[in-house]
Amino acid sequence: MTELRTLKVALLGCGNVGAQVARILIEDADALAARTGARLQLSGIAVRNVNAKRDVDLPQDLFTTDADTLVKDADLVIELMGGIEPARTLILSALRNGACVVTGNKALLAQDGPTLYEEADKAGVQLSYEAAVAGAIPILRPIRDSLAGDRITRVLGIVNGTTNFILDQMDSTGAQFADALAEAQRLGYAEADPTADVEGHDAAAKAAILASLSFHTRFALENVHCEGITSVSAADIAAAKDAGFVIKLLAIAEKLTDADGGEGVSVRVHPTLLPREHPLAAVRGAFNAVFIEAENAGELMFYGQGAGGTPTASAVLGDLVSAARRIVLGGPGRTETTTGHVPALPIDAVMTSYYIGLDVADQPGVLARIAQLFAEQGVSIEIMRQTIHRDAESNVESAELRIVTHRASEAALAATVEAVKGLDVINSVTSVLRVEGV
Ligand code: NAP
Repeated sequence: MTELRTLKVALLGCGNVGAQVARILIEDADALAARTGARLQLSGIAVRNVNAKRDVDLPQDLFTTDADTLVKDADLVIELMGGIEPARTLILSALRNGACVVTGNKALLAQDGPTLYEEADKAGVQLSYEAAVAGAIPILRPIRDSLAGDRITRVLGIVNGTTNFILDQMDSTGAQFADALAEAQRLGYAEADPTADVEGHDAAAKAAILASLSFHTRFALENVHCEGITSVSAADIAAAKDAGFVIKLLAIAEKLTDADGGEGVSVRVHPTLLPREHPLAAVRGAFNAVFIEAENAGELMFYGQGAGGTPTASAVLGDLVSAARRIVLGGPGRTETTTGHVPALPIDAVMTSYYIGLDVADQPGVLARIAQLFAEQGVSIEIMRQTIHRDAESNVESAELRIVTHRASEAALAATVEAVKGLDVINSVTSVLRVEGV
């Protein structure tokens, strides 16, 4: 039997994900060699503190603080340190040295992806990042490879487990946002500083990556319209539920035609109402899912664990074996294609349905006045429901009005909401949320 060649694998970082990657590389060495056609030898693990206690028992002599030297002597480099620096410099150094790089660093890719992709192209090596979007779920390779012969028209993703857990808690228990967040922190689903998750920044970084691969054009973080979930109230969730909807934080990338007939792509993250029968509505807890619409394939959905050391390590190992196979067979492969040249459209170009909650005076003729005002602004109403409340102390009656519109532009909707606020029968506009899937 011919001796397999050995490829040196440098691992940068040994935290939640890195420790599991190291474990699998050692425990499954024979199976990985059989699938790859080369032995994947873990040549070292760069960390900050070589003496720190790890989740997994690993040979102590693998650990080093000298990431620079480790990277220079590797065929494949796995970056799982996170953050911008020194991850960025080490990845660039690895690529320049001709090593293939696997990373899960969505923050770095969203901030400076193009520099890394260009360096990989220049060096003729592979840069892979399946773990950067939706953890264990194979989604980037299906978009890049399996759907390469199709045209993707729309991607809807639940790509942040923390916010999905919080919204699911609010939906199932009636909790307010702050209480659901506290529960997520208690169970370890949310960080002590949850800003990147609840403000939508983490989902926006993933939206930029999904949009770039789906539409063969590089979209950066600044092209993503981003709204988080901090202002979603228990009342919004209850009203949505009552009307047959669930609220999800969606990352959306879709091809649109703007008012001048030009084609472009809208990339956005915002809380969205989905009909309860939509496949994404069934994604509970901290799970992730990505729903794709393509011209020929039709609708596809990818579902699974979006985070966690071992699930994310699965995605990293998949990239590693794929990159190593290419080294064995020769040829760099392609990480992305950028021949689409479609512009990123501003949020104003999006036509969508809206859900509007209004607290109104309970008087005759109110509904007709509101309906007329919507019509004057060119926004047509699909559903209008009224619930009457009587204040126990004052005995004053007020009405809660819930409206779902047909598709309207952001500008028309904003003008309508402003005009509605000016009506003397309106106590307050309690919520304005976008709706998908109707
Ligand atoms: P983590 O637990 O914080 O681990 C980071 C590791 O990197 C630690 O071992 C740390 O060393 C090392 N490190 C950090 N800065 C370093 C430096 N300057 N020099 C040398 N080593 C350094 O991170 P993680 O949760 O495994 O995440 C790793 C990456 O995967 C991130 O980009 C993250 O966004 C991505 N990701 C994570 C998940 C997940 O579920 N955790 C899911 C998808 C993607 P010490 O141990 O010595 O401190």
